Amino acid sequence: MAWVITSLCRDCLDLSCTAVCPVDCIYKYTGSDTETFPNQLYIHPEECIDCGVCEPECPWEAIHEDSAVPDLFHADIALNASMMDHADEFVVPREAAKKDRPTEEQVAANKAKWGFVD
Ligand code: SF4
Repeated sequence: MAWVITSLCRDCLDLSCTAVCPVDCIYKYTGSDTETFPNQLYIHPEECIDCGVCEPECPWEAIHEDSAVPDLFHADIALNASMMDHADEFVVPREAAKKDRPTEEQVAANKAKWGFVD
């Protein structure tokens, strides 16, 4: 079991999750193939210890257990896992989390952008 960062993180990257992950298994892509690996964070499924600490930290509600990823974001399970084949192009971000948290309206608008209704 591992946790998954869904498309709701895309272009948001709050980074609060990386500050709390006890095993530093949340990564950012640094390569040039941004069509394959878009601008979001990725959880390494074999390094994740399934602690769940990151989930409530994400203000965009982008993180889910792999067994509970909404259908709409199911492809993100494989996308997170595919980073294992390109590990040298991923780093653990060391920047601080963003100071400004999104408003409820911004979180709802981001979900709506993906057609997600929870
Ligand atoms: Fe890290 Fe725990 Fe989240 Fe896995 S569930 S990514 S180990 S904080």
